[in-house]
Amino acid sequence: MTKVYTGGCLCGFIRISARSPRNPHTCSCTLCQKHTGAHSVRWVEFDTQDVQWTGKGGKPATWRSSEFSSRAFCPRCGSSIGAIDDAPTVALLTGCFDDAVHAEFTSTDNACQGSA
Ligand SMILES: [Zn+2]
Ligand SMILES: [Zn+2]
Repeated sequence: MTKVYTGGCLCGFIRISARSPRNPHTCSCTLCQKHTGAHSVRWVEFDTQDVQWTGKGGKPATWRSSEFSSRAFCPRCGSSIGAIDDAPTVALLTGCFDDAVHAEFTSTDNACQGSA
């Protein structure tokens, strides 16, 4: 069975259930820094169809950050969740996950190029 990754925001309004992670990477671009308040963040991507928003809040709130992507966050507690692309990709910040899955995702320093 495919492993399911669960996670969510600080207050629990936004909950995530995702499978089949790909393209883990870190980023320290200005966009990521402003979005999260952190100097450097770690990402992992999923196909849109492999991500379910299972919390009361449904899909996270978004802010259009580039021509092809929007930054996602919890409208209630303000936690950064990730980025929802127009292409069928959802990128999640690995800090959102319930378990310490960081080690599973071997990071390549493959910045999001400040464009997502
Ligand atoms: Zn929240
Ligand atoms: Zn970035």
